[in-house]
Amino acid sequence: MTTHVVGGGVAGLAAALAARAAGQPVVLHEAAGSAGGRARALPDGTDNGTHAVLGANRAAVGFLKEVGAWSGWVEPEPDGLPVLDLADGSARRVALSPLGWWRGDRRPHGLSARGVMALLRLALPGADAAVGARMAGHPALLRGFVEPLVIAALNTPVTEASSRRLAAVLRRVGGPGAARLHVARSGLGPDLVEPALAALRRGGAEVRFSARLRGVEVEGERAAALQFGGERVALGDGDRVVLALPPWEAARVMPGLPVPVEHAPILNLHFAREGAGAVRFLGVLGGLCQWVLVRPGAVAVTVSAADAEAGEPVEVLAPRAWGEIRALASAFGLPGEWPVEVPGCRAVKERRATPRHVVGQAAPPDVRALRNLALAGDWMEPVLPATIDAAVRSGRRAVRALG
Ligand SMILES: Cc1cc2nc3c(=O)[nH]c(=O)nc-3n(C[C@H](O)[C@H](O)[C@H](O)COP(=O)(O)OP(=O)(O)OC[C@H]3O[C@@H](n4cnc5c(N)ncnc54)[C@H](O)[C@@H]3O)c2cc1C
Repeated sequence: MTTHVVGGGVAGLAAALAARAAGQPVVLHEAAGSAGGRARALPDGTDNGTHAVLGANRAAVGFLKEVGAWSGWVEPEPDGLPVLDLADGSARRVALSPLGWWRGDRRPHGLSARGVMALLRLALPGADAAVGARMAGHPALLRGFVEPLVIAALNTPVTEASSRRLAAVLRRVGGPGAARLHVARSGLGPDLVEPALAALRRGGAEVRFSARLRGVEVEGERAAALQFGGERVALGDGDRVVLALPPWEAARVMPGLPVPVEHAPILNLHFAREGAGAVRFLGVLGGLCQWVLVRPGAVAVTVSAADAEAGEPVEVLAPRAWGEIRALASAFGLPGEWPVEVPGCRAVKERRATPRHVVGQAAPPDVRALRNLALAGDWMEPVLPATIDAAVRSGRRAVRALG
C-alpha cells in the first residue's frame, strides 16, 4: 500500500505529506540532489528566485504552517508596497487590496473612479480575452497597477495574458487579509524546503534523491512499474503513484499526455550587499527591475515574463538594475550604504519558470491519469495561475483522487 511520489517540488512535498497524513507509507523520488524544484535554494543557499505568498494563498500558508515553517515568513510591507515610478520619479505606497484604497495615498498609480469600475468588470467571470486589450481604455491604470499585477501573478505579458485567469486572482485578493504579502525571511531552503523534508522524515517517509524517473510501465488501466535508470520499482496491487513533475517531464514519461508547452522565464539578479536590518520588498515602474527584495546580506531583483531580459548578459543587466535600486533606496530612505559602484551580481534565469497563462489556454488533463496514478504540479491548476499555492493544492488533490 505504498504511495510513490515522483518529484520533490512543492507539489510532490505536499502530496507526500498528505499521503503520510492519510496513514500511507510514502517514498518520495526526486531526480535532483535536493528538493524544492522551481522554489529551491541553490547550492550556496541563494534562492533560485524571490517567492512571495499572499494571504489569499490559503493552501500555501496552510502547507507552511503544517511543516512548521510559517514563522519564518514575514510581511515586509504591511502599510502597502513602496513603488517608485521611474517615468516621473513619484514614490508612493500602494495597497494591493482594494480595501486599502479608501486612503488616497494608498491607491495605485492611474486609479480613477472609472478605473475602479473597469477593474470590477475585469474581475467578473466572462469571455476570455487578452488583459491588455480589455484595459486598453485605461492606459494609466494598466501601466500602474494591472500590468505589474499580471506580470507578477501570471508571469505572462499583458498582450497575451488571459483575462479569465486574472479575474480569478482579482476575486481572491479582494477579501480581508487576502492581499497581505509574505516572503521567506532567510530563504527558501530554511523557510520551506528543509522544514518540509524534516516533517516528512519525522512522519516516516523515505526520501530518495538522484532518482530520475525514466518511464512508467502501463498495463491496461494501471501503472505496473516505475523505471528509474537501472532500477525498476514494481507496483503491487495497493500501490499508488503521484507524478508531481513539471509538464515537460510528465509528458516525457507518459507520452501523449496533454501538457502546456509554452512557458515564460523569470530572471532574478542577486546582489551581494553588507548590512542588517528589516526585510523590505519594493516595486519599480518603468524600469528593468519589477520587484526588489532587500534582506540582510543580499538584494534580489525579480523580472518576470522576462522574454527579452533573460537573453541579456549580466554585465548589461547588473548596472542597470543597481542604478534603479539606488533610486529606490533614495526615494524610500532605505537605511545603509548604497554605493555607486555595482556590487557583485549573479543572474539566475529560470527559462521555464511557469506556463504562459495565455487566452484560451487548454484545460489540464484529468487528475487520475490511470487507476493507480494521479498527476500533480502547478500546471494542473485549471483556474488560478501556477504558483506555490497551486502546487500544494494539486499535490493534495492527487492524493485525494487516488482514494
Ligand atoms: C524564479 C521563480 C519565481 C517564482 N515566484 C513565485 C512567487 O513569488 N510565488 C509563487 O507562489 N510562485 C512562484 N513561482 C512559481 C513556483 O515556484 C512554482 O509554481 C512551484 O514551485 C511549482 O512546483 P511543482 O512542484 O509543481 O513543480 P517543480 O517545482 O518543477 O517540481 C518538480 C520536481 O520534479 C523533479 N523532477 C523532474 N523530472 C523528474 C524525474 N524524471 N524524476 C524525478 N523527479 C523529477 C524536479 O527536479 C523538481 O524537484 C516562481 C517560480 C520561479 C521559477
